[in-house]
Amino acid sequence: MMFDRSAEGYVWSGVFVTSLAGVLLLGTSVKAAESRQAAGKNKAQPIVVTIVYDNNPLDKRMETAWGFACVVEGLSETILFDTGGKGKLLLANMAKAGFEPEQIHRVVLSHAHSDHTGGLLDFLKVNPKAKVFVPKAFAADFKQEVSHSGAELVETEGPVKVCDGAWTTGVLTQPLVEQGLCLETSAGPVVVTGCAHPGIAQMARAATSRAKKPVHAVLGGFHMSRASADQIDTVIERLKELGVQQVAPTHCSGDNTRRSMKEAFGDKYLPSGLGAKFVFRQSPKTSAVTTAER
Ligand SMILES: [Zn+2]
Ligand SMILES: [Zn+2]
Repeated sequence: MMFDRSAEGYVWSGVFVTSLAGVLLLGTSVKAAESRQAAGKNKAQPIVVTIVYDNNPLDKRMETAWGFACVVEGLSETILFDTGGKGKLLLANMAKAGFEPEQIHRVVLSHAHSDHTGGLLDFLKVNPKAKVFVPKAFAADFKQEVSHSGAELVETEGPVKVCDGAWTTGVLTQPLVEQGLCLETSAGPVVVTGCAHPGIAQMARAATSRAKKPVHAVLGGFHMSRASADQIDTVIERLKELGVQQVAPTHCSGDNTRRSMKEAFGDKYLPSGLGAKFVFRQSPKTSAVTTAER
């Protein structure tokens, strides 16, 4: 699916994933956003998450490799969440998805595994102006390299505001330090995870307790490729108990998990993989803030 939005400086392309609640169809979202802009009343864009690094193929024009990265657009700042393993491939896939490195204002790293952090330094060579959010527990030499690149380093522990409408979940520590990215949509928080080593349900729970409302969707790596059928069922049960409506497992989630979640969530299972785009309506609260600030 291709749609030229060159008037606003970029091209929609790749595979577009949609569903009913909180997710808009491509045509509708763009038209709605443009007509709102034309009316000059509400400048809120939809929040669009595009996967630009993943081992699961979807958009065949992009090259898969083990790891994860996605770009979040539509808020006051454009965010790169994780950076995959290889910088050159990250930049190449971003270009194919229509992103210039300079467009990115914020980088958030989930955890210290190299398939999520490996692309960062190559990215910072091209764009050292980004603000980089990493868990405080990251190795000192890694944090030093980020600072030496010229980028502003923000060390995180508890939930931290990345920009209006985007927060980190706060760092979970077992079995390793990891944070997710929480996006405020009109249907509730959407949690994006790198590997979710602490457990996807635990990360959704952390987001729920900060937002004080149920998580609408979880997407990213769920780290369940070695999970048994029983373990997968338990996670599905927990997500449903938490009120999670939509799931989009990819990266290290595992084929069995993807299959079982597809059965359990039906049309609320969003097919994911490299090049997938997820579109959510912004929370009216965020839109009000960003419109007022601009
Ligand atoms: Zn990973
Ligand atoms: Zn990992």
